[in-house]
Amino acid sequence: MKLGLDIGGTKTAAAIVHTDGRLAVLRTRASGHGPDAVVRVAASLALEAVAAAGTTTAGLSFIGACMPGLVDRESGLVSHAVNLGVERLDLAGRLGAALGQPVAVDNDVKTAALGAHHLLDQRNTDGTLAYLNIGTGLAAALVRNGEVLRGSDGSLGEIGHLPMGGDALCKCGQRGCLETLVSGSALERMWPPSGSGRPHGRNPFVAADAGDTSAAAAGAQLSAGLFLAVQMLVLTTGADRIVIGGGLTRLGGDLSTALAREIEQRARASDFVASLDLASRIELVPADLPVAALGAAMLQHGPLPTPQRPSGVPA
Ligand SMILES: [Zn+2]
Repeated sequence: MKLGLDIGGTKTAAAIVHTDGRLAVLRTRASGHGPDAVVRVAASLALEAVAAAGTTTAGLSFIGACMPGLVDRESGLVSHAVNLGVERLDLAGRLGAALGQPVAVDNDVKTAALGAHHLLDQRNTDGTLAYLNIGTGLAAALVRNGEVLRGSDGSLGEIGHLPMGGDALCKCGQRGCLETLVSGSALERMWPPSGSGRPHGRNPFVAADAGDTSAAAAGAQLSAGLFLAVQMLVLTTGADRIVIGGGLTRLGGDLSTALAREIEQRARASDFVASLDLASRIELVPADLPVAALGAAMLQHGPLPTPQRPSGVPA
């Protein structure tokens, strides 16, 4: 069996997976804040899941872990995981020490893309899958021929920081980034919770139906931003599948319906948009499917060091 750990901004998940990919045990808990607590929560949750599966860490064939931020797969170091209070953390080293086994690490969105490819897209082994994560922020990752694409510096897929219009200040320093149109933080800004509101249980589409005009405006902005993200991914990557995951998918059917309406409207106005048949390419990750934790169990260890040419051998 294999272990996958997904250390998210709000919760951590540990999945024990059979070698054939079936989920054996899933445990979740609120994530720790700060490097020590992040590792402590992840390690104790992992041990709990391993025990529930009736094995030990020594009996596992693989351990993988993912978290937000810049993740160096080779060194195992994570930096700038702002929402977890982590500026720098030797994730692979410290989790490995706590679990007594080597741990492979990767960025959470790239890992979720890999999980989505394996879980939702097995027939499409030679196509391109784009995974769009709408959490506090917005980011995408691509899987082509079963491999996560990275680019030379890992920035491939950071479409949330493309300025698309508007003057909302983004945390990256630019204005009008796509992330300021469609993300959890965009929703909070456009439709701030009232004093008694539950900031994470709110649904702008339901509130709009009940006559809340600012919720309606926020919902419209969200749908338009999501449409832009999907169209951009299709046009720049040729993705035949767009899988949408992340915290905002808690809006579930309401979000799908709003996006479907947006696509229909735009396709009616443009034969070009209609020809892309966007609706047929989109799928929301089911709320109970832990794609990132399952993806973490499918990670491979980072690239091997480049072989050094023996001295004296001509290039
Ligand atoms: Zn930005």
